[in-house]
Amino acid sequence: MKIGFFELEGWEKKLLKKERISIPQPRSTFLLVQCQKCENEQIIYSMTNNNILCKICDAIIAEKTGGKAKIHGAFIRRLD
Ligand SMILES: [Zn+2]
Repeated sequence: MKIGFFELEGWEKKLLKKERISIPQPRSTFLLVQCQKCENEQIIYSMTNNNILCKICDAIIAEKTGGKAKIHGAFIRRLD
């Protein structure tokens, strides 16, 4: 029982550690995202300081979060 607990703790710590590392050292990539409104496919940068709008209909495709962009459209694939 105790071992199980420790394993879970270690697993959770690993997850937290991974998340912490990904913030100061973000792997910036380009993403192909589809607008949910007009289905326009657009390439966006995964790290953005601005909201990214669809070039066709001005809907927000990606929202700035201070780190990795929050994607509002449909994520299609990474371009790296
Ligand atoms: Zn659109």
